[in-house]
Amino acid sequence: MHTATANCQAAEFLPGDRLAVLLPLPLAGVYDYLVGNGQRLAAGDFVRVQLGRGQAIGVVWSAGGTIEADKCRPVIERLDQVPLPLPSRRFIDWVAAYTLAAPGAVLRMAMSVRSAIDPKPRQRRAAPCPLPDWRRPGLALSADQAVAAAALRRAVGGGFTVTLLEGVTGSGKTEVYFEAVAEVLARGRQVLVLLPEISLSAQWLARFAARFGAPPREWHSDLTDKARRDTWRAVAEGAAKVVVGARSALFLPFRDLGLIVVDEEHDASFKQEDGVIYHARDMAVVRARLGAIPIALVSATPSLETRTNVEAGRYRRLHLPTRHGGAKLPSLQLIDMRRHGTARQSWLSQPLIDALTDALAAGEQAMLFLNRRGYAPLTLCRACGHRLKCPHCTAWLVSHRSGPLGGGSATERLRCHHCGYSSPLPAACPECRAADSFAACGPGVERLAEEVAARFPDARTAVMTSDTISGPRAAADLVDRMVRHEIDLLIGTQIVAKGHHFPLLTVVGVVDADLGLAGGDLRAAERTYQLLWQVAGRAGRAAHAGHALLQTYQPEDKVMEALVSGDADRFFAAETEDRRAAGMPPFGRLAALIVSGPEATAVDRLAAELARRAPRGADIEVFGPVAAPLAVLRGRHRRRFLLKTARTVPVQSVLRRWLDQIRPPSSLRLQVDIDPYSFL
Ligand code: ADP
Ligand code: ZN
Repeated sequence: MHTATANCQAAEFLPGDRLAVLLPLPLAGVYDYLVGNGQRLAAGDFVRVQLGRGQAIGVVWSAGGTIEADKCRPVIERLDQVPLPLPSRRFIDWVAAYTLAAPGAVLRMAMSVRSAIDPKPRQRRAAPCPLPDWRRPGLALSADQAVAAAALRRAVGGGFTVTLLEGVTGSGKTEVYFEAVAEVLARGRQVLVLLPEISLSAQWLARFAARFGAPPREWHSDLTDKARRDTWRAVAEGAAKVVVGARSALFLPFRDLGLIVVDEEHDASFKQEDGVIYHARDMAVVRARLGAIPIALVSATPSLETRTNVEAGRYRRLHLPTRHGGAKLPSLQLIDMRRHGTARQSWLSQPLIDALTDALAAGEQAMLFLNRRGYAPLTLCRACGHRLKCPHCTAWLVSHRSGPLGGGSATERLRCHHCGYSSPLPAACPECRAADSFAACGPGVERLAEEVAARFPDARTAVMTSDTISGPRAAADLVDRMVRHEIDLLIGTQIVAKGHHFPLLTVVGVVDADLGLAGGDLRAAERTYQLLWQVAGRAGRAAHAGHALLQTYQPEDKVMEALVSGDADRFFAAETEDRRAAGMPPFGRLAALIVSGPEATAVDRLAAELARRAPRGADIEVFGPVAAPLAVLRGRHRRRFLLKTARTVPVQSVLRRWLDQIRPPSSLRLQVDIDPYSFL
């Protein structure tokens, strides 16, 4: 095994030539093979090869080299499959080099559907799919929309460009980028649209189908094997014209990709946090560059990184300043919880209760937002104070009381939101043996729903969280019921914030606006601003004016002030200056290193060794090792390092030199997280 990069020449390899074949294995680079008798192979071909005693399928990557020809085995056969195109291959190399993942691990993401590449005979047929029709007319655009749409259409004709499409919620950003999609379709090329929560995006799918007369292809974790197989192959063959997907769709083998759209580009869920750790928005920009195609980043609250790129002139910005059809942005009001306390075991202040009462009386809809699943985030023993924690993680157990779809079966379960551990509530305290002594502390959405039921007994309510919604169908049903006004009051976690359009929704209440600020990491303020702005943006999207009420104990916090004043630019300018002064991204680079293993002493030993060999240099700082905030996760002890460098430092080679000196025992894991977003 060695390393080699994808070759640009469409070289043909003839019998007797040596080849480097990349195999989709977690630790693999390329392996050398020989072209067998009668074979003609080219870079990108899928091939079956001998590996140890078994066989494997890999991709011809480049000419081979390091192993003598008489020690190489011949390729068994070339598979009857469209070759992996050059931009995809170069992308895999690029992602591997950037994230320090093994190229084989990245190829594995591109070859995630084994049965599409090496089908059994009965799996060969794919059902034909209707094609989106670009000739259908779109909506009549407003003047601002038309300007933005024309600019995006023009970009489609050119090479690599990055365009930020920024516009307030409800300004018609989706309509505008649909015009660019139509342009790509007219040119016969393919489009990739990345959405943060694709399985919750029924409204987006319906709009696409209404605009183009046929649905797009979907790509996410909630698909049947057959759907994955059909789509993978249709993408490779060029028959799938528009793919809408989660971040992993970036690794699909597009035959002729012409445009990428990243909707809600600021969304943190674009960061993949395990396996190959990468940021899908950033990698999408790379993919566009390698394919020499345009990319559009779309958001109402663009990330600080993207704003900085606009300011530096690297990205172009298109702006939609107003809501479509004269709808007004919601008014935003802070409720100072230091003055408006709530009664014991209740979480709604009087001003919020009044606003909800008025909206319901007027026949409008309301929404309550609390970013906490379950009934209560903490359960403790009233007798001795013991807190119930996960046996495998540094985390409290979260109590859950209702079954799926909010059907209140009163059996209480305790769950760990990190590892999935679950148990019934114990009959007695494990510490002091007191019976029936447990008290729930703090609210989750289920508990909030209890208060709502008590205060508004006639309101039709529903709870929307990843626990109550078991897939795209259930999510779509709930959204439909909301649109048909079969629900008066929707209670939910951040998934209610995502892109939904509820014309009758006028009041949005944020129960605990301070929640996201608690962790205090680099992006806590920015993330809280974006999330709360997006939640508030659900209100008043049509004829009725919207109001958002935010309960906070820190009304003078910069995030709350920015939300109320509506002055996003000033807030982001201040955040940008803070980051610049501290040398934080995007003005400096960060990489995290996480050492983990089942035994704390072995983890500490490796961490100490890493510390001894830590890189030094003028523009390099290494912090740690420290116990991670999640010091134990799934039974593994975790220690963190943070590497901080100037922008000019090639952080990957610094890391490589550091890690190459270390041979961790197999029970320990060393994870590299370039550009970390989570610091847990
Ligand atoms: P955004 O993506 O900026 O939040 P959308 O594209 O979802 O905005 O548009 C918000 C609502 O306004 C949608 O229901 C959309 O169909 C409608 N809309 C936007 N532009 C137009 C237009 N030019 N004509 C008619 N309806 C429009
Ligand atoms: Zn756990």
